[in-house]
Amino acid sequence: MTQNKNTYLTDKKFPFCPGCGHGISINALNKALQELNYGPNDVIVVSDIGCSGLIDPLFATHTIHGLHGRSPALGLGVAMGVAQKQNKKVIAFIGDGGATIGLQHILEAARRNIDMTLIVLNNLLYGMTGGQISGLSTQKYKEIIDFEKDVPPFDLIQLTHASGARFAVRVNAPNKIKETLKKAIQTEGFSIVEAASLCPSYGMKRMNDLLEVVEHEEIMEHDRPATKIVDKKVHSLLTETPVIQPAFQSNLKNRKGIIIAGSAGGGAQSVARFLALAGMHAGLETTMKGEYPITVGTGFSVAEVIFDHKPINYTGLETPDYFIIVTEDGLNKIYSKLHSNAKIYIDEKLVTEDLKNEFSNLIAVPFSKMANRKSIALAAAAYVLNQTGLIPVEALKEAVSSHRLKDIFIEVIDKVTQQAV
Ligand code: SF4
Repeated sequence: MTQNKNTYLTDKKFPFCPGCGHGISINALNKALQELNYGPNDVIVVSDIGCSGLIDPLFATHTIHGLHGRSPALGLGVAMGVAQKQNKKVIAFIGDGGATIGLQHILEAARRNIDMTLIVLNNLLYGMTGGQISGLSTQKYKEIIDFEKDVPPFDLIQLTHASGARFAVRVNAPNKIKETLKKAIQTEGFSIVEAASLCPSYGMKRMNDLLEVVEHEEIMEHDRPATKIVDKKVHSLLTETPVIQPAFQSNLKNRKGIIIAGSAGGGAQSVARFLALAGMHAGLETTMKGEYPITVGTGFSVAEVIFDHKPINYTGLETPDYFIIVTEDGLNKIYSKLHSNAKIYIDEKLVTEDLKNEFSNLIAVPFSKMANRKSIALAAAAYVLNQTGLIPVEALKEAVSSHRLKDIFIEVIDKVTQQAV
């Protein structure tokens, strides 16, 4: 902590309507920070949308302004980021409307119990948009305005306590807010202070009337230490990615694109990766990308690989040069892409008279006899490399050599290529 400051506020005039209760909590926080002796640069005030969100220009601390209902999430992120710095305190503000919208963010912050304080300015309504009720509007208040009185409000204190907040308090009396905030700010872990606030423009006009309709005051605590953030070193992809030194020669003349079409669990994606790696071992530029259903364990699995000597700036593959088709799922998926100028390597079981009549460039191969279901795509890729000489089969063996199943994969590749010889 640094030296005491006389004020944590800027010289800006409060923007609220006359009599608005938000100023009470802002002044209380200013005093609490002074008494706790925080330096303005040690405090990060986070706000979001709504009348309560007008506070950030008022504080002469670090301030961040976010989306409606998101100040707890934003604050949580900042708190995790500064967790290992000395004496930093994140204090987020939110209204009861924002708390309704961002309830999950509040519960998540409570569950994580990261060191921060959330101040909920509860005036029982959405002030900025004209006084609509919120999820924290109390039954008594709703009886007065005769709206949704049978729908109970969220009890934010109970909810955050149940979620794991270290310190959860509802305070209604204005003269208790400063001391409550001090205790909350001093709490190591997630603390929440729900403070009653007056909205003379759309809600209650006098504090005494408001105190008649708010929920009872409540303090709930957990003897739970704040969650510690471990600073994990994240390595840069640029410096940590191993550089592949080409050890094989490629006969590639110009850019070539391959589509591998199979079924889930058949290894098409892994094989595309092996091919791309093999291309790099042969000194080529390569790209790969895959497509499969959201339910990854079913249906087709299709992957594209491009080889070139030049950098590949466009990774699209409209007219592939080679197709490797090992299952019916794969065939159905890429059927519309088949064209007469490509070499279409296809498992012989999938070849029909119609397909033969449509494409004279089919090359039927007994892929399904060469390997089991899981290795069929690898066997087919090894076969095609061996036939075309696009890149040496040895480069493919090098590509699989760091895989835990390398012995099985190399056996598959050897079997296919030796048979072909
Ligand atoms: S509308 Fe209500 S909550 Fe908003 S500034 Fe005016 S009095 Fe305050």
